[in-house]
Parts: sequence; C-alpha cells; structure tokens
Amino acid sequence: METIHTIEWMKQASRQARAEGRLVGFVPTMGALHDGHVSLVRAAQRACSPVVVSIFVNPTQFGPKEDFAAYPRSREKDAALLESLGVEYLFAPEAAEMYPPGFTSYVEVSGLSSRLEGRTRPGHFRGVATVVLKLLEIVQPWRAFFGRKDAQQARIVEQLVRDFHLDAEIEVCPIVREPDGLALSSRNAYLSADDRRAAVVLSQALAAARDAAGRGERSAQELIATMRAVLAKEPRAAADYVEVVRADTFEPAVALRGTCYALLAVFFGATRLLDNMLIEERDGALHCTL
Ligand code: AMP
Repeated sequence: METIHTIEWMKQASRQARAEGRLVGFVPTMGALHDGHVSLVRAAQRACSPVVVSIFVNPTQFGPKEDFAAYPRSREKDAALLESLGVEYLFAPEAAEMYPPGFTSYVEVSGLSSRLEGRTRPGHFRGVATVVLKLLEIVQPWRAFFGRKDAQQARIVEQLVRDFHLDAEIEVCPIVREPDGLALSSRNAYLSADDRRAAVVLSQALAAARDAAGRGERSAQELIATMRAVLAKEPRAAADYVEVVRADTFEPAVALRGTCYALLAVFFGATRLLDNMLIEERDGALHCTL
C-alpha cells in the first residue's frame, strides 16, 4: 500500500491508473476504522482496482462545540488494517493541504441539508459536501462507496454528483452492526459500559417499527410513536429526532409509500448516535432493512 499525503501525488496516481484503463474505487472515511469501513473496502474491491481509501477528519463538517479535537484517531492501526486488506492507496492529507490559507469556496446542497442532521448540526452538510466534492475531484474515481449508516449524507452526495455532473458512480452499502444490533460507529468508542448496553435501544426501536409495518401499519406517525415508546423505556437514551421520511427528499412521510427511511438520532450523555431503517414498498408489501 502506498500512503499519499499530497493532493498532486494523489491526482497523479489516480490519473495513471485511469490511463491504464483501470477502474478506480474510492472509500472516503474519517479513520478510526471498524468493520463498517471494511465492508465498504470489500465492496470497492469487488468492483474496482485500484482501491483508494481516504482518511481525513474534515474540520469544516464539525461545529464549534462538536468533537473535532476529540474525534478518535488511530492512524497507524488504520494503515495496518488497510494494508492487510490489500488496499493500494491510502490518501491521508493534512488539514492545511486540503484547506490552505486563502481557501474560500464552499458547496451547499440546499433543502436536503437543512433537515434532520442539518437541523441539529448547522453547517455540517456544507462541510461534508465541500470535502466530498474536493475528494471526488482529486481522486476522480469510477465509483465511490458510502454507508447507509449515514443515509442523509449518502443522499446529499448523490445530489451533489448529479448537480455538478461528476463522473463518479455512488454506491450505497448496507449498515454493519454489532451482534446485539448496534450499528458500528467510530463514536461508539465514546460510550461508557452502561451507555453501550443501553445503546441497543436504537436498533430495538427500529425493529419494533419493522414489526409494526409487518402487521400492516401504514401510518408514519404510528411508526414514530412505536419507536418513541421503545426509546422511552431506556432512561439513558434522550431522543434528538425520530422521523420517517421519503427517501428522495428527506421530507416527512405521511403514509408509508414508495421508499422511505425511519431515522433516529439519540443522545447517551454527550454522545449522539444515529441509526436508520430502509422501508421499501414492493408488490404492495413493505420490506424493512435495518
Ligand atoms: P466515517 O469515517 O464515520 O465518516 O464513515 C465513512 C464511511 O463509512 C461513510 O460512508 C459511512 O456511512 C460509512 N459507515 C460508517 N459506519 C458504518 C456502518 N456501521 N456500516 C456501514 N457503513 C458505515
């Protein structure tokens, strides 16, 4: 594996691979890698060669009171893991390389960015869209891989690619979970032992919504009430939002039609965890995927 720190070098390596007719796959991450990230790397390796993984804790997507400084960083362990997976390129730029003095341009995916995560974290998706546009421009992959764990982010990236006529295909990969159902996240490392045990309530709330949908419930409000009732039984959990939205617009759904997401953001102390479930209507029946 080659570790690359400069934009010019990364562009050159990727340009060279494209000139050889190879299909460059790209997995952007913030490091502190876990099996969720590994699943994206494996998906990339199934379709592409070479695979580029970036590790960049992007300062512009963190609010002033958020955990940028504390965000877990494990550069050496991450590099060893990527090496063992057979990744060809690790792109790990410094913040000053990505945002040199005089940097002034930002992208805003309007509408989609102001709801849910964007409401709780103003400016977050402006930072995400800006860094993803930069990374896609630097790497110019054939295909880039994102996790459904961050469903709203994936939708915003799809919109960004469409609106700016970018060449990259976007593939959204399933959520990888712990055996008890908790979605893997770098931020799980912040949880105390008690909060870690309590955090199973997120996937339990989604599973209860899935069961309700399976019994024929078609009202988004009822699904939300079902999820809130499960969360309310766990005193360590404080819900930030519990919503059911249309997958294309992320606007609140009324009836469960077409493709929707049930989405949760829940605080355990200062740690905020996300989870979601995909709800697809096929042949008149609802199919729920946690
Ligand atoms: P992050 O390093 O948290 O910015 O995440 C990098 C990529 O990994 C994003 O596309 C995430 O959606 C994805 N990801 C994070 N956690 C998971 C998970 N549990 N399962 C699948 N993908 C994930």
